[in-house]
Amino acid sequence: MDASLTEGQKAVQKVARDFAEKEMRPVVMKFDESQEFPREIIDTLGGLGFMGMTWPEELGGAGLTDLEAVVIIEELARVDPSVALTVASHNSLCTGHLMLFGDEAQKRKYVPDLASGKKLGAWALTEPGSGSDSGGMKTIAVRDGEAWILNGSKTFITQGSVGSTYVVMALTDRAQGKKSISSFILERGVAGFTIGKKENKLGMRCSDTATLLFENVRIPGENLIGMPGEGFRQALKVLDGGRIGIAALSVGIAQGALDASLAYAKERQQFGRPIADFQAVQWKLADMATEIAAARLLTQRAASLKTSGEPYSLAASQAKYFASEAAVRATGEAVQIHGGYGFIKEFPVEKLYRDVKLMTIGEGTSEVQKMIIARNLLGD
Ligand SMILES: Cc1cc2nc3c(=O)[nH]c(=O)nc-3n(C[C@H](O)[C@H](O)[C@H](O)COP(=O)(O)OP(=O)(O)OC[C@H]3O[C@@H](n4cnc5c(N)ncnc54)[C@H](O)[C@@H]3O)c2cc1C
Repeated sequence: MDASLTEGQKAVQKVARDFAEKEMRPVVMKFDESQEFPREIIDTLGGLGFMGMTWPEELGGAGLTDLEAVVIIEELARVDPSVALTVASHNSLCTGHLMLFGDEAQKRKYVPDLASGKKLGAWALTEPGSGSDSGGMKTIAVRDGEAWILNGSKTFITQGSVGSTYVVMALTDRAQGKKSISSFILERGVAGFTIGKKENKLGMRCSDTATLLFENVRIPGENLIGMPGEGFRQALKVLDGGRIGIAALSVGIAQGALDASLAYAKERQQFGRPIADFQAVQWKLADMATEIAAARLLTQRAASLKTSGEPYSLAASQAKYFASEAAVRATGEAVQIHGGYGFIKEFPVEKLYRDVKLMTIGEGTSEVQKMIIARNLLGD
């Protein structure tokens, strides 16, 4: 446990760690293999306040700080990154967008059910033809009196097939392009809104990822978030917060890989000695531990800046970029330390090695993070 945390933060960490070890660890591979959404686990996490970690208590949230939220995500990711991804995306993307930019009526209507975990939220920016260049989207909402008519599709949407409340970004004027992007609240079950393909994935397999299809979906005027044309700026701000969650997930995955490697290196004997006696193995462990410590500091720094209301976009991208790449390195070394057993599903590093790759891709690839960091440095 991290000595720099306060007693209160350590108590939150203990709740998350105990839950992950007792309730999640025994069923990790069952959910990984079936790709079934872990509904009961998510319901219980809702009861613990983890589905509305930082949102105010009067709206059903737990009123925790961003630092406490990253501690929780790290602990869940240490055991099952798919569950941690569900928690992180639900908190920061859909609910995060509503909390940052929704009006009072929208917050009162949607946030309590999301923050308690009664309903799941999804956030839809990416399209088949627009990922890193998310402003190049084609989905369009056209005004019809007070309402909007939505047509298009979104791809790779987390909680896509299990969500109830969706925040969807769409153009409102094709000629204006990304300047016209606006964000809308969509509820499951409205006419013309269907769920498409559920993805079969390399990792994060029990996190739900699906395509959304919109065919003449009528959205009431009161479901526009903010003003027309504000959606792209809103989305970038929401992603700043989301990236702190991805950084925390990366730290948790790397810590899970290190914990498993330490135990294995002490137990596994070769040439008549535990492999932990060999300097080549020790150096791997030392590099992993050092990079994890650095990644954790960057992540907690970004979270603290967010809570204190200071600019945190640069810090969030630096944390996400460094932590995700360090976690990829750590899981690779963890499999190497396990030798052939690291390739076998009975050992947790096999799954962590697969799950971690999303960290350098989702919510902006490493290349995109470097573009953001450089833009901040150059003042563009
Ligand atoms: C499991 C999963 C869950 C996801 N969840 C969500 C979600 O909930 N909501 C949502 O909206 N999206 C979601 N996404 C989408 C995710 O954010 C995108 O996949 C990601 O942003 C990358 O976009 P892309 O896949 O289209 O890759 P591309 O943008 O096509 O990138 C391909 C490669 O080109 C590189 N590249 C692109 N442009 C540049 C450039 N200018 N300079 C240098 N290199 C560049 C990229 O870094 C990458 O290496 C999810 C994706 C996955 C796989």
